[in-house]
Amino acid sequence: MSFEYRSVGFIGLGAMGKPMAEHLAKKLPSETLIYVFDVVQAAIDQLCTEFPNKVVKSANAKDLAEKSDIIVTMVPEGAQVKSVYLDPQTGICSTDVSKKLLIDCSTIDTATSLLVKDHIYQNFPTASFYDAPVSGGVVGAVKGTIAIFLGCSESDTNLPRLTHLLQMMGKSVIPCGGPSLGLAAKLSNNYLSGIIAIAASEAFDMGMRSGLDPRVLQKVYAAGTAQNTICDKFTPVPGVYAEAPSSNEYKNGFKVQLMRKDFGLAVDMARRVGSRNVLGEVGLKTYTDAMNDPRCRDLDSRVIYRFLGGNEDWKGKDGIDHWDLHHQRT
Ligand code: NAD
Repeated sequence: MSFEYRSVGFIGLGAMGKPMAEHLAKKLPSETLIYVFDVVQAAIDQLCTEFPNKVVKSANAKDLAEKSDIIVTMVPEGAQVKSVYLDPQTGICSTDVSKKLLIDCSTIDTATSLLVKDHIYQNFPTASFYDAPVSGGVVGAVKGTIAIFLGCSESDTNLPRLTHLLQMMGKSVIPCGGPSLGLAAKLSNNYLSGIIAIAASEAFDMGMRSGLDPRVLQKVYAAGTAQNTICDKFTPVPGVYAEAPSSNEYKNGFKVQLMRKDFGLAVDMARRVGSRNVLGEVGLKTYTDAMNDPRCRDLDSRVIYRFLGGNEDWKGKDGIDHWDLHHQRT
């Protein structure tokens, strides 16, 4: 199926948005113009310099919306999504967005997303608005391998067009059923992933303190009923899985503050929908305290292993595998 892309707008050119917009610039047809906006002027200028005949700067979200048929937004939180869409002077909806396709990829609370959707459908019944949060981190955004959880039903007539566009930025696009359900899926996923990281850190720590090599523990979890991606590929203990952020001083991962944000949104969502949630409060406190700990802030969220007092130096600083030496002697 082929689709027409006359003009696409992209708002929010941060850690995720910039590489996502770059994929669009590389993959959309040569005649399609991409209008961009960010509150940081340098972010706009950088992209315009990178793609001089393709990416065009906009003065604000309204200016961008006037020129774009499809608009993708990727800003930090609900407050920014509200202002980008609903600001009466400069927001997307301060111009006529009838027939436009609006896609919000930000991870925000479902209530704000539904509020924005309702405003759009009340004022512009022929417009289309979707929540489409993403998973896979900055590395996934750069590689174009993010997963996109789309607040859209399988039978929605826009689904083929949405999938075609979103697959330029990510690998899998999963329609989650309807408005705000992409966000509900993303928050429930991050809740689960956040809880697993805490449990994995505790499990590694108790096993290691009992005398087990963390590499053996990882094999045990992989073969046993505890198998999960955090232990396999995002191993909280440094030096077990080479590509895990923990093995690179917890750099270039999913920042602990972002996990705290998503975890908090998930706990709020659980409360709102009446889901019993015994791990929520303890998980939220753990990520809040870790986020405020200078040893952990700005690092990958699996730094929770460090926060809980896990041994990171189990191999020994001199590069000699002390664990093996110890076991050969005993
Ligand atoms: P970021 O802070 O790096 O980028 C956000 C960008 O939005 C910035 O460039 C900022 O200047 C811009 N912005 C803020 N307010 C704006 C406004 N009113 N108008 C226009 N631009 C505005 O954040 P990020 O890491 O790119 O995350 C964006 C969203 O994606 C968040 O909701 C985050 O939770 C989610 N997310 C992030 C990751 C990750 O690993 N970083 C992974 C998955 C999802």
